[in-house]
This record gives sequence, C-alpha cells and structure tokens, in this order.
Amino acid sequence: LVEVRGLHKRFNETEVLRGIDLDIGKSEVVCVIGPSGSGKSTLLRCLAGLETYDEGEVRIEGELLGYRERHGRRVRASSAEINRVRRNIGMVFQQFNLWPHMSALDNVMEALLRVRRFSRHEARARADLMLETVGLSHKGDAYPAKLSGGQQQRVAIARALAMEPHIMLFDEPTSALDPELVGEVLQVMKQLARDGMTMAVVTHEMGFAAQVADKVVFIDQGRIAVQGKPREVFHDAKHPRLRQFLQNYF
Ligand code: ATP
Ligand code: MG
Repeated sequence: LVEVRGLHKRFNETEVLRGIDLDIGKSEVVCVIGPSGSGKSTLLRCLAGLETYDEGEVRIEGELLGYRERHGRRVRASSAEINRVRRNIGMVFQQFNLWPHMSALDNVMEALLRVRRFSRHEARARADLMLETVGLSHKGDAYPAKLSGGQQQRVAIARALAMEPHIMLFDEPTSALDPELVGEVLQVMKQLARDGMTMAVVTHEMGFAAQVADKVVFIDQGRIAVQGKPREVFHDAKHPRLRQFLQNYF
C-alpha cells in the first residue's frame, strides 16, 4: 500500500532523510523507533504529503505522491493532485490539534461537512459512530478543554477515522499524555490494528510495538539502520546504535 524508494529530504544544507526504502502492506502495522532528530517525523510527514522530498519516490496505492511524471521527467504535482492522494491518509499528532471552540462532535463532523460535503444529518451519524469506536459516545458535547489528554487524543483519532482513510499515520500519539492516560489511547490503536487498519506509528512505547507491530523500523541519522519483526529487532539487536538506543527502554 505504501512504497518508499530511495527517499531523500533536505532542509537547506542538512540532509535529514538519506535514502529510505520502506514497504507497508495492506493491514500491516509498522512501528518506527529511533533517537530524537533521526528523521522519524519527517518521514511520516513525507508519507502524508505534508512535506516535499528531494529524491526518490513515495507511492501510496501505486500513485506517486507529490510529483507527476511528464515526458520521463518529474514535475511537482498540483495541490489538487496531492490532496486527492492525501484524502486516503489519516494523521494523528503528538499535540491533538483539536479546534478549541468546537465540541468533540463538531470536531469530528467538521471535515465531513467541509471536505466531504456530507449533509449535517449524515455527518452527525458518522461522527456519532466514530466517537463510539473510540469509547467517547458520552462526550460528544464536551469541548476539548473539558476533556483529558487521552480523551482529546481519542477524539483526534475519531476525527481522522471519520474520513475513511486507507492508512493511518501516528506521530508519537501518546508522548504528550500523562502516564495513566497512555493505555486508553494505545487500546484504541490496538483495536484499529485488529480491525485491519494499515498503520505507521512513530512511538516510544516499546511494549505496544512488540505486541502490535508486524514490522519495527529503527531509524538512525536519516537511514533505516535495522528493520524486522519485533522479536528480531528487540532481542537480536546486534547493531550497536540500536543496542544503545534500546538500553533506555529495557
Ligand atoms: P523527535 O524524536 O525529537 O521527534 P524526529 O526523529 O522526529 O525527532 P525530525 O523531526 O524528523 O526528527 O527532524 C529530523 C531533523 O530535521 C532534525 O535535525 C530537525 O532539526 C530537522 N528539521 C525538521 N523539520 C525541519 C524544518 N522544517 N526545517 C529545518 N530543519 C528541520
Ligand atoms: Mg518527531
């Protein structure tokens, strides 16, 4: 479903992604781990079409993201083309980014009304269902300020799911949460994985990665240094930088 080949990304002089190759199959869960500044968020943003890239290819369901081939040369895709591919990608960030002046329900309905042009009735029905999926049926009328961090993040997940994405990208979805609220968000993500959602998750939750990931990817200095099944990556860590990194967790 996602194919990344030879992906390079520079910010000015700094090469942040230095040749990434990655495949994510349908219904696969890939967890991305690695030190701060190694390029995890940048990779996810490239997959989401939120960031341009300099070399290589990102394909989502076979479609080249961000560029168009014309007479064998690459030209930047129009924003309409990029938006068409991005429609199938849901993203959840560390900071939940809910609209503070809207109730939970309105947060979930907003894009359905504006982007998908649902009627209010249809949007309401879908939003109710999505809040139920994340265990928040009873909080539809609450404003973000009245919700815990874990509840806010679950609303953010419901909002992304409402758009029926083919893949969900999570960038440290639990890192801003108090420890006692982490579990409820991971629980929702586990259920999503069980339901067959294709997911890429940047996380420091090694327990979650060990339990849920089909593949764990260790990024170091803009390259994938190690990838494999959780068992292989966590227990047979021969790569010195990976060993060093994992020592902080186990
Ligand atoms: P963390 O674990 O701290 O979230 P990360 O692995 O997600 O780190 P990135 O956010 O992808 O790392 O950043 C990788 C590198 O790219 C860092 O050195 C960062 O300073 C740089 N970088 C990221 N975004 C930009 C930007 N918009 N402009 C310039 N440099 C950037
Ligand atoms: Mg990051």
